Amino acid sequence: MSLPVLQNFIHGKFVASQSGNSFAVKNPASDEDIYLVEEADDALLQQAIESAKQGFAQWSKMTPIERSRILLKAVALLRERNDELARIEVQDTGKPIQEADCVDIETGADVIEYFAGLAPAQLGSQQAVGEDFFYTRREPLGICAGIGAWNYPLQIACWKSGPALAAGNAMIFKPSEETPMGAIKLAQIFIEAGMPKGVFNVVHGAARVGQWLTTHNDIEKVSFTGEVGTGKKVMQSASTNLKEVTMELGGKSPLIVFDDADVSQAVSAAMLGNFYTQGEICTNCTRVYVHRDVYVAFLDELKTRTENNVIAGDPLDPKVNLGALISKKHQQLVLEYIEKGKLEGANVLTGGHALSPESAPNGYFVAPTVFIDCTDDMSIVKEEIFGPVMSVLVFDNEDEVIKRANNTELGLAAGVFSRDIQRAHRVIHQLQAGICWINAYGNSPAEMPVGGYKQSGVGRENGVETLNSYTQTKSVYVGMSQIESPF
Ligand code: NAP
Repeated sequence: MSLPVLQNFIHGKFVASQSGNSFAVKNPASDEDIYLVEEADDALLQQAIESAKQGFAQWSKMTPIERSRILLKAVALLRERNDELARIEVQDTGKPIQEADCVDIETGADVIEYFAGLAPAQLGSQQAVGEDFFYTRREPLGICAGIGAWNYPLQIACWKSGPALAAGNAMIFKPSEETPMGAIKLAQIFIEAGMPKGVFNVVHGAARVGQWLTTHNDIEKVSFTGEVGTGKKVMQSASTNLKEVTMELGGKSPLIVFDDADVSQAVSAAMLGNFYTQGEICTNCTRVYVHRDVYVAFLDELKTRTENNVIAGDPLDPKVNLGALISKKHQQLVLEYIEKGKLEGANVLTGGHALSPESAPNGYFVAPTVFIDCTDDMSIVKEEIFGPVMSVLVFDNEDEVIKRANNTELGLAAGVFSRDIQRAHRVIHQLQAGICWINAYGNSPAEMPVGGYKQSGVGRENGVETLNSYTQTKSVYVGMSQIESPF
């Protein structure tokens, strides 16, 4: 049986690529090819740029309220189609439907709704300078490129397009070649909601397509989500015409559990922050520092709950709470890290192997894995694994744990569990991380800015400041008095 073919989506419709190159997308839970995708060739990419120029000309002239109305219509359509879209995300990513159903589309829609609400309230300023005065205008940048990772495909497309479009820009979006369907669905919804053609185009392909966009002179900003190494390449390419950049990159985040913490709550956070979305979340707290006095209690509960409460299997089964990793290659990489952990002297408390659940025997599953007896210099403690692999470390005092938590080039997220509110804030204020939680982990509402310190990123997504980052300030000085001239 021949597979359906997904084309690029430009100027409100699917467009055929002349090169004839295509690639297959696999369902990670079944190892089956589910559809083919046409790769964008250079002519098609240039067509996306010309279309975006037209889209931008029309969209940027509309009033913020008019833009907002269209975006809100798209939000309503996203919510109306939640179940259908959630199933698409499950097929592309391998994540459990019980997550996609209530997180992926909802949190994407929330962000578009948030920026649709903010855009009409965005103001310039005015200030007197003697008799003269100046005012500022916030103008859109032009055409922006969005480049997404594969873990939250539709949500990432919403998080990038929401602020970009609300501020009056056009966007050309390149999803990960492993998960291209979600962005296409969003593009179709935007058109259905009444958005002018060309405001949001989607192009397919791997690094070559991303690179083409990041070096193109007509693109003013790149918003990128992916690995640190790729982010560095993207920033370098973006420097060819000094594009603005937002970089949402990887992490190796610490969770610190003090001796006065509610241990059950801390275990819940550690499990959520390592096993949710089968561990493929950038903010995951993969270094769990536990105070020596609660170490045994923490491990006992962690082991019991991991072994009794995690259900791996067909991710479309609503009972399943651990899905398949994105690809066989990635599964191998995660398993290699597990072997490295064992070789470097860490001990496996639970897990430590691949899984082949009865309902999805060919999927790329890895058992939820907890390493103990870890030291800070081990590869599993230093490097982002992006799978369900937690390293637990013991600590004795506050200063020591802060130093150890900060001893990394990454700085995406951090968490503290303690009932002592002063200590919790004091510690968080010293942690070098952009997204922090106290007695919580992972929540990311649209209103809260998120992004990394150090090599985990540049700029922020969500929150008020993100809307500003999709605009440029124009200052207009108005002379009201005679010009004083020596000439
Ligand atoms: P990746 O390999 O860096 O790829 C990210 C995107 O960049 C993909 O669309 C990829 O295309 C594209 N790309 C690859 N090389 C490129 C180049 N030279 N120029 C332009 N684009 C290029 O990352 P991933 O494996 O998809 O995602 C996992 C990573 O994302 C993890 O490190 C995770 O921590 C990070 N992440 C961060 C956040 C955050 O908000 N901080 C959120 C989610 C994920 P192809 O995939 O099609 O090759």
